[in-house]
Amino acid sequence: MKFYSISNREKRVSLKEAILRSVVNVTDLYMPVSIPVMPDTFIKNLKGRALNEIASEITNAVFGDDIPPDIICRIINEAFTFEIPLKRLNDNLYVLELFHGPTLAFKDVGARFMAGLFEFITSEEDHEINVLAATSGDTGSAVASAFYNKSGIRVIILYPEGKVSLIQEKQLTTMGGNIISIAVDGTFDDCQRLVKLAFADRDLNKRLILTSANSINFARLFPQAFYYFHAYAQLEDDSGSLVFSVPSGNFGNLTAGLIAKRMGLPVSMFIASTNINRSVPDYLNNGVFEPKPTQHTITNAMDVGNPGNFPRILELYNYDIERLRSDLKGYWFNDLNTMKAMADLMDEYSYQADPHGAVAYLGLSEFMRNNDCTGIFLETAHPVKFADVVSRATGIDIAFPAAISGLMDLEGKTIKMGNSFKELKEYLFSSG
Ligand SMILES: *Cc1c(COP(=O)(O)O)cnc(C)c1O
Repeated sequence: MKFYSISNREKRVSLKEAILRSVVNVTDLYMPVSIPVMPDTFIKNLKGRALNEIASEITNAVFGDDIPPDIICRIINEAFTFEIPLKRLNDNLYVLELFHGPTLAFKDVGARFMAGLFEFITSEEDHEINVLAATSGDTGSAVASAFYNKSGIRVIILYPEGKVSLIQEKQLTTMGGNIISIAVDGTFDDCQRLVKLAFADRDLNKRLILTSANSINFARLFPQAFYYFHAYAQLEDDSGSLVFSVPSGNFGNLTAGLIAKRMGLPVSMFIASTNINRSVPDYLNNGVFEPKPTQHTITNAMDVGNPGNFPRILELYNYDIERLRSDLKGYWFNDLNTMKAMADLMDEYSYQADPHGAVAYLGLSEFMRNNDCTGIFLETAHPVKFADVVSRATGIDIAFPAAISGLMDLEGKTIKMGNSFKELKEYLFSSG
């Protein structure tokens, strides 16, 4: 599969280039030159099939020219060691639980597939690859866990000291091995600035191979298409027209859903459900795309004023807003709405949602008020990751899952640093 960048449609690049060159300071958003449509028989026979089988067939259709089938199988089997169950709440309402991975958020899906793909793609390099990432919490822990023990790859994660939750800090600092965590005396923006400076620094780039694992990397976005097919495979009753509601921030998850539809999955509508960072719902309503400064909410993984993947969606629809509107509706909600939705889900269905899943539920409910359909909302994080807010909303305390309670007893290891680039550069030079 060849790729092109939205900012340069003429130039074709290989899979390797599209994935390793996707660094933060470059505005290149890579898209596959064509999106294959899966055969009718594949869609007809999806019922009851396992996630890994579905994922392998889709990956073969897209990357079959780049990756041998046995390697595709291995990458997928190593990545998806957990379930992505679809649970039925009533006749035509379902929730797709994406949080059963090792760091309890849906970012595990993309990060684990990407790590396997990186390991394969860089296996011919005779130098170590350095994956450099800034995190405000969730992305970093998913990336750290996914890349642990991948050969030929060293991961360096910068996080703002004292500004990530205790669980996140444990997840970032207790991996060891090829995962190095740096606690920066500063904010998330400082971390991001340092990473960008490193990618732009000539001396460093002469000495080391630096790459990024950020959320606009196609290798992280693509595998998220698998679970839309897998959700369809798990439906108990597929007689109604199918609608997915996606809690959206940077819009990678939703882009993957629209790609699944383009590949032939019979979905009648997608809902972009956001918090008050509402530039996409506003665009769908009034036709003007106007990124805004980010506002902080209780659904902090969706606090994105300028969604990085949205240009990919515009590209997929050839900048034709009417065509996009026939596949996508957008709704936004404030924190009060979200708190009430968590309480409602508990009262009506005894279902404990996290705040992000609750926003997706709200968007779906809004749509289903006037439309007869089968609705699935995506639940992107385990509620324990937002235990304070969740128990404030429902009055119920959440028990820590076994995987996490062990983690809390481990001693973390981190390197402390100021927020000047000089310090980071010296460290990378001396350790690389
Ligand atoms: C990252 C994240 C989102 C937003 O996903 P995008 O692909 O950036 O739109 C939603 N929920 C949770 C829990 C997340 O971590």
